[in-house]
Amino acid sequence: MKTETKAVHAGDRKRNPDAPGAFVPSSTPIYTATTYIYEDTAKLDRVLGREEPGYCYGRYDNPTRVGLEELLTQLESGHSTQVCSSGMMAIHVAVLAALTDRRKSVLASNALYGATTTLLTQVLEPLGVDVNFVDLCDLAGAEQKIAELKPGCILLETISNPLLRVGDLDRIAELARAAGAALLVDNTFATPLLVRPLEHGANLVVESLTKFLAGHGDVLGGAVITDEAHADVVRALSRTLGPVLGPFESYLTMRGIKTFVLRVERQCANACRIATWLESHPRIARVHYPADPHHPDAAVIRRLFPEGLYGALVPFEIKDATKEDVFGFMDRLKLIVRGTSLGDVHSLVLYPAIASHREIAPKQRQRMGISDGLVRLCAGIEAVDDIIADLDQALS
Ligand code: PLP
Repeated sequence: MKTETKAVHAGDRKRNPDAPGAFVPSSTPIYTATTYIYEDTAKLDRVLGREEPGYCYGRYDNPTRVGLEELLTQLESGHSTQVCSSGMMAIHVAVLAALTDRRKSVLASNALYGATTTLLTQVLEPLGVDVNFVDLCDLAGAEQKIAELKPGCILLETISNPLLRVGDLDRIAELARAAGAALLVDNTFATPLLVRPLEHGANLVVESLTKFLAGHGDVLGGAVITDEAHADVVRALSRTLGPVLGPFESYLTMRGIKTFVLRVERQCANACRIATWLESHPRIARVHYPADPHHPDAAVIRRLFPEGLYGALVPFEIKDATKEDVFGFMDRLKLIVRGTSLGDVHSLVLYPAIASHREIAPKQRQRMGISDGLVRLCAGIEAVDDIIADLDQALS
């Protein structure tokens, strides 16, 4: 089945095996119970031992959460999924799983979401994990670093934040496989509509469900979707650490995912129109957009992304703008919301230098290509003419 169909049907409508004649709900209900009781203790023993399917305790499994996990497994072409309380928690679990039985060494892209960099350098490195960064869009350089460092885990984002660089997943997966490293990909900006990294050789995929998948700015959640080889270790870690998503959030996310294809298609179409409009605006110095034939990763993008779907993000640079000029522009916006998230139904703007890249020294930010005039826009599902009119009045 296609992604559009899976998004609507997967994970729902489970029959309770203990009540074969019972009704089947058309959508997955919210199950709040933490504990399931059994008349027959031998059956509880078998369920706890995973010899028989069933539910025992909320930290292990919950029927609402399992519905969402099955849905995500199908969307990402995975073997299994663990949903977590946030995207960051999912990344933490995924890195721990990737490093289990491997060298405690992570080679990460040098263009990562700020909190992911913080997790690596301020949480895992002090615990003894060797952490290094490299430009994974430069394959020759990456190959050399992998040979030199022999990392246990290679970590990147499908579309990097905020300049939308795209690494060659197939080639990076080959390099990881040859080095015995696990490839972990944060697919939050792409979503499984655009790219499914497990189909390109990744071992673990992370999604911040908070963004496009839940999509309405009202749920915080994350997911680790794995290949078969990493399914048990993720499950075991989760049972011990208890990073799980609650039943209400699982329900809201499942409900959000049913329309995610419609939303993301509309957001991509809006982003494309906005990027074209911005490119010809006299006050704009540069637009970073994956459909641009001059994008540094254009060849990889053509191969990885479906025609016409290049994501909802449109980072752009206002000509000769200082931080104060950009703040003035953002404050003049009347429709587009100023906020630190992305992927919601409403359009959002962010100034990366004070948010995702706040902890990075100004000189280093400049070296990374994050100029003082850079604004990150994420297109919502509003009428595109209204979004453009708002940008126009705020720019003039
Ligand atoms: N990965 C990316 C690419 C993100 O942009 C974010 C948050 O903005 C996260 C992970 C973390 O997700 P969460 O806020 O759900 O923990």
